[in-house]
Amino acid sequence: MAKITGFETFDVRFPTSKMLDGSDAMNQDPDYSGAYLRIKTDSDMHGDSLIFTIGRGNEVQIKALDILAEKVVGLDTADAFDNIGDIARQLSGDSQLRWLGPDYGVFHMGAGGVLNALWDLFAKERKVPLWKLLSDLTPEQVVNAVDFRYITDALNRSQALDILYRQLDYKSSNEAKLRTQGVLAYTTSPGWLGYTDEKMLKLTQKAMDQGFTLLKYKCGKSLEDDKRRLRKVRELVGPDFSIAIDANQVWDVDEAITWINELREFKLRWIEEPTSPTDVVGHAKIAAGVAPTAVATGEMAGSRIIFKQLLQSKGFSVMQIDATRVAGVNENIANILMAAKYSVPVCPHAGGVGLCEMVQHLAMFDAVAVTGHHPGRIVEFVDHLHEHFVVPTDIQNGSYMVPLQPGAGAEMHQASIDKYQFPSGSYWKNGE
Ligand SMILES: [Mg+2]
Repeated sequence: MAKITGFETFDVRFPTSKMLDGSDAMNQDPDYSGAYLRIKTDSDMHGDSLIFTIGRGNEVQIKALDILAEKVVGLDTADAFDNIGDIARQLSGDSQLRWLGPDYGVFHMGAGGVLNALWDLFAKERKVPLWKLLSDLTPEQVVNAVDFRYITDALNRSQALDILYRQLDYKSSNEAKLRTQGVLAYTTSPGWLGYTDEKMLKLTQKAMDQGFTLLKYKCGKSLEDDKRRLRKVRELVGPDFSIAIDANQVWDVDEAITWINELREFKLRWIEEPTSPTDVVGHAKIAAGVAPTAVATGEMAGSRIIFKQLLQSKGFSVMQIDATRVAGVNENIANILMAAKYSVPVCPHAGGVGLCEMVQHLAMFDAVAVTGHHPGRIVEFVDHLHEHFVVPTDIQNGSYMVPLQPGAGAEMHQASIDKYQFPSGSYWKNGE
């Protein structure tokens, strides 16, 4: 094992706004970006993570990483692994910084960046991918990583242990199945709002040919446009193929109910982010008002506490965790365990850059050690920017295949970091 000696941060931005990749009703010109952290040790091992942003603001997220990563310098990595739950609580609970949250926002995400880099380091030291490291933890080790503060009315430590012990006898068969079949993926690649109908249909056909069994389309700018687009998609995919839509928070609550019910004929598997991600009561009203259409949300749910309330209030029936929105692997373990308690499937969010590479590990941990394999779990995939990662995703026949290389997935090629570092990298300086 090693000692943490320092860290570096990089402001990495990709010019995705030029192609309208990633465009939706709320985010019209995203430049997919990463506030990138590398924790260095006295060995040649390093732990990498990134926090996804969509451009401006990346520098603020970097600043939070610079402040928080300082707290782990000097730690012995074996001690850090044994005490990762305490480290998580210290990072999120800094007595002065938490004033700027608490438990959500730039510093909470910054804590997640540091924790995810530590988990990357732990996995690399043990020469295993993160999903395997997490899956092989004992139930006690798993719950020790979780901060149960503010969630014990939904899930306490002994209930979490029960969930994990229930799966214990099945872990090896779950892992064997994972290694051959992976976990189901769906794609949003055909559905960006800035695409023409022609491009949308061409990419829809391509995604079906690639074996995806669920496709997702952005919506919410114009009801007439949504109806036209969904009608064309339904004509192409047929009556039984699963399609979902994503409004990216554009509606007020009552508007959402009216709008979604206008689209009922298209038999949607879910409506995603219908309104403000913090409006738990609003989500519950929408969920009741649009049933049997399912409501999905979570990519901007800033903490386990919001997820708890969404579960308690039946505000959603699909939990969409994000690898970098909350305080890292630790808080996402809490989210996955709470979802298991309430029998809500976890279908991770993974647009953006690096999110597919990272969040697949959490879905695979869920499949091996928490809820096992079931058809309700399906993980988002978008086919952008994977070439910049040391371990890019491996999608085959509509599923994420298991990464076997050590680490947590976020490490980028140094050449990519150098080229797209903002504003000094060669792309941003010279356009190449
Ligand atoms: Mg979304």
